[in-house]
Amino acid sequence: MRNMNLDTCFTVSTLLRATTFAAEKHRSQKRKDVLGTPYINHPIAVVSLMAEVGEVRHDKDLVAAMLHDTVEDTDATPEEIERHFGKYVRDLVMEVTDDKKLSKAERKRLQIEHAPYLTPAAKVIKLADKTANVTDLIASPPVGWERQRRLDYVDWANKVVDRCGLSEHPLTREFKRRVAEARAAQSLR
Ligand code: NDP
Ligand code: ZN
Repeated sequence: MRNMNLDTCFTVSTLLRATTFAAEKHRSQKRKDVLGTPYINHPIAVVSLMAEVGEVRHDKDLVAAMLHDTVEDTDATPEEIERHFGKYVRDLVMEVTDDKKLSKAERKRLQIEHAPYLTPAAKVIKLADKTANVTDLIASPPVGWERQRRLDYVDWANKVVDRCGLSEHPLTREFKRRVAEARAAQSLR
């Protein structure tokens, strides 16, 4: 790390701490694809998209992205996130966390409804999350998802992305590009 400045070192070590936390929380979970990919690959992909495509450099936003599914899908609590990573990260994670007490259909409806009112940082996590998920859906779809179900998912994700209202953001463009490419290659037909 001799060539890194102090800020970069801080970001790397905080992000590694968040990666370790997320890896431990998601340790028994797999993605829904036929290979049963380790779940942690997904938050890593979301952070990579934010950093590489979205050019996000704010370390707390990247940390929140690494943790974005921990409260929704594991036993992690908001208090635990705040204790380890602070209130900013906790609030951002909770902004992108669905209420699991609601039905799946209602949660999906609320994601569309709430998207315009998210903070800018939460919108960027949403854009990266949807981009990562449609990429997985195209390359390694959930087992048993027939064409119509994949198309329905892409239509829904597209609505959430559009309602974020960041049409010129590089992650919105990347999302649209990946979906258009898959449609052209008939991977979504
Ligand atoms: P889910 O919400 O159950 O699954 C999609 C989510 O799975 C993604 O958002 C992602 O979430 C995660 N995921 C894990 N592995 C993958 C992968 N390999 N590729 C992509 N995503 C992955 O499914 P639906 O979106 O279909 O929502 C369920 C709704 O669909 C219900 O309302 C139900 O009634 C309806 N339904 C529709 C059917 C149809 O044929 N259209 C059939 C059955 C149900 P994360 O980022 O959080 O990991
Ligand atoms: Zn996710």
